[in-house]
Amino acid sequence: MPGSSTSSLDRIRSDQLGRLRAGLPAVLRSNRFWRQRLHDVMGWDDFERLPLTTKADLMADQQAHPPFGTNLTHPGDRYVRVHQTSGSSGARPLRWLDDAESWSWWRRVWADHVYRSADVTPADRVFLAFSFGPFIGFWSAFGGAEELGALAISGGAMTTEQRIRTIAEVGATVLCCTPTYALRMVEVGREIGVDVPGSPLRVAIHAGEPGASIPSTRAAIEAGLGVRCFDHTGMTELGPTGVSCSQRDGVHLIESEFIFEEVDGELIATNLGRWGSPLIRYRTGDRVELRREPCSCGSPFVKVVGGLRGRLDDMFTVRGVNLYPSQVEDIVRRHPEVVEFMIEHRRLRHMDEVTLLVETTDGQSPLERLRSDLRQALGARINCREVPAGTLPRAELKAQRLRRIADQ
Ligand SMILES: [Zn+2]
Repeated sequence: MPGSSTSSLDRIRSDQLGRLRAGLPAVLRSNRFWRQRLHDVMGWDDFERLPLTTKADLMADQQAHPPFGTNLTHPGDRYVRVHQTSGSSGARPLRWLDDAESWSWWRRVWADHVYRSADVTPADRVFLAFSFGPFIGFWSAFGGAEELGALAISGGAMTTEQRIRTIAEVGATVLCCTPTYALRMVEVGREIGVDVPGSPLRVAIHAGEPGASIPSTRAAIEAGLGVRCFDHTGMTELGPTGVSCSQRDGVHLIESEFIFEEVDGELIATNLGRWGSPLIRYRTGDRVELRREPCSCGSPFVKVVGGLRGRLDDMFTVRGVNLYPSQVEDIVRRHPEVVEFMIEHRRLRHMDEVTLLVETTDGQSPLERLRSDLRQALGARINCREVPAGTLPRAELKAQRLRRIADQ
């Protein structure tokens, strides 16, 4: 009903403005990073005149004011946790401090939104297949499971085989990991003869890569592990921003905890619960298509159609066709004999040349079919080349599937 969705949007907007206006005065008073940039906000007009901020701004601030930068609303001794970004794009990691209040916000958003949308309850046993290094995602997923009252099981410092055996032995019902790692678990589970699909495992929550919103990747994980997959989006600097729903066509953004905007196709976010180190109108670098229509799952929140399928800096061009790695992945994952892949983009004398490097299972060569499937689905010619097993990089956090090689 259009009437009811309009009034729920009005309610969302007025709650957002209320939270922003309650949190902003302390930031304006004592946060050195924001004090110069922001002005007081009475209404949405004021909000829209606030400047956009980039990750480069935060990096520059942290470099000029090591080790934590100046985005700190409180005195240093109020902060209780430090995490850092994965530095996956080769950049220096960005450090991020949370005070106790911000950390309980993280845990609550996970419990009330991410786990709840994925139908996880206090009766569940949540296994986290991560190393538990300084990256915030592991700890927030763990803390959120505790907050919910589920059993939280750390999979740190274990081999893939040990993780699979632990999942089966303790009767884990929920798995959190990257989509790429889930596919690795499918492979290893088969090798060691553990029947994961026959175990109590029933839900998988994936982040770090868009895989759980890519139909072929999701289907491979769901069949291989006997689970229902959910896609979760979030950033160290911002917090847990979204989760997919039963409709399976995108990710709802958590508008009760953030303000989201779309500016020139890019997702801009403001968090409303992390006032110790807030972000206001932050450019996420994610290209999105937002849709606000009533969803059959009942969520009033805006949806990112198809999930976060491409970062603006991951786009590449083949003879005038703009592509994102996720589009290539969707085709590649329809070929189960491909174990790992990477897209190599070269620019030679102003010509784009793209080669797909693949590792395959023994004696199976899908190259011909891959080449023609890619051409048909994407309208672009992509060369395919097989590389020896184990030569492509394996990432725990975010698989980098695009390698750019500059003009020589
Ligand atoms: Zn929905």
